[in-house]
Amino acid sequence: MASSVLYSNIGNPPTQIIKGEGHYLLTEDGLKLFDATSGAAVAALGHNNPEIKAAIVEQLETLDYCYLPFFTSAAAEKICSFLTESTGGEMSKVFIVSSGTEAVEASLKMARQYFVELGQLPRTKFIARKQSYHGNTLGSLATGFHKGRRAIYEPILAANVSHVSPCYAYRGCKSGESDEEYVNRLAKELEDEFQSQGPDTVCAFIAETVSGTTLGCVPPVPGYFKAMREVCDRHGALLILDEVMSGMGRTGTLHAWQQEGVVPDLQTIAKGLGAGFVPIGALMLNKRVVEVLSRGSKAFVHSQTYQGHPVACAAALAVQNIVARDGLLDNVKLQGELLGKLLQERLSGHKRVGDIRGRGLLWGIEFVKDKTTKEPFPAQEQIGQKIHLKGLEPKYSISLMPGPGIVDGKDGDIILIAPPYTVSSADVKHIVNTIAEVPSGRYLSITRKRDK
Ligand code: PMP
Repeated sequence: MASSVLYSNIGNPPTQIIKGEGHYLLTEDGLKLFDATSGAAVAALGHNNPEIKAAIVEQLETLDYCYLPFFTSAAAEKICSFLTESTGGEMSKVFIVSSGTEAVEASLKMARQYFVELGQLPRTKFIARKQSYHGNTLGSLATGFHKGRRAIYEPILAANVSHVSPCYAYRGCKSGESDEEYVNRLAKELEDEFQSQGPDTVCAFIAETVSGTTLGCVPPVPGYFKAMREVCDRHGALLILDEVMSGMGRTGTLHAWQQEGVVPDLQTIAKGLGAGFVPIGALMLNKRVVEVLSRGSKAFVHSQTYQGHPVACAAALAVQNIVARDGLLDNVKLQGELLGKLLQERLSGHKRVGDIRGRGLLWGIEFVKDKTTKEPFPAQEQIGQKIHLKGLEPKYSISLMPGPGIVDGKDGDIILIAPPYTVSSADVKHIVNTIAEVPSGRYLSITRKRDK
């Protein structure tokens, strides 16, 4: 029977998953796939966790829903307190939504409102980075920069955004250039962009702390965010860090900025917050922003029906309690180091593997047609998608996430590896061994024999 679900590929339904169990997804065809990407870097605890189920049921039995603008709930209070405390009080208020996109959208509106409260009405613009992803609504899509995703919506995008280069050492750093020189060059580019936009017209610079799929798990070079923060501070603009993918433990600390020596003014989180058990995201506000709001209109001119949903909040709190109780951030660091080391050992010598990079349990392998020139594969080859589909074959049985268009929004491929925080060393070895054996058609053939 034809499906009524609107998939991304209308004519081609994806595999149906009938059950999730621990690190595995069971398919309708009887396969047991290792979920090496936790969905889209979401399922931090794996699947079907009895403690989270119990927390959800308990919340449903107590209070299923209340409308947050009118009422609050213990669940919303608790998860927001947990989140502000986890930042050492740097962030002092949290606005709970249902997705990463909504958190980013709220951050743009909050940034604008902040300057309205300050009477700086000409501040209406944003500076973001090329090859970034911040979501799919008309404001968040405007801040992201993936040509393919934006193309047909360009005329109706809803925020005034210009874009500077991302911090992408593999392609951005010139030969012989030190990290410091590279950072200085990127800081100058941001400074120049402020000047060309008019420094007093910019609300904020927005960036992913560790970039996700659109660039492919690229951590910043040391000192990058400190330098960007300085440029923002010089012009009184806000720094928004989008940690929808890299935050909530994925890169080894609860917040990715905790490894960068900067504190954002606004921060978005989502995926690891509810770990996929419920749809949840959040915007976190620095105390500096809260202070301005408290002196001004005292209200965020933005609300949503499912804001602070009690069931989502209770599930997220249960997830975060498990992450803390079971020392999972330490495991993310430990297994992340092993994952990076094994990927380098097994794959860096391969003629089609241009770069392997990542942090914690967020790793990307960038494939190139020519390793010397770094020429990417053309988009129509769909290299990442081919690897993903190969991985679903019975002898590999692994779910890997493709990231197309990383070089210029059209060409260039990565696969993303982001397993649950609960993986063991044996799981990590299994992931790397399987990836090393997944041949991907005549272009890649990542078999060790042929490439040695
Ligand atoms: N920002 C970043 C950095 C993301 O990785 C994503 C999702 N991939 C989003 C925003 C959008 O989140 P969502 O898909 O939950 O709307």
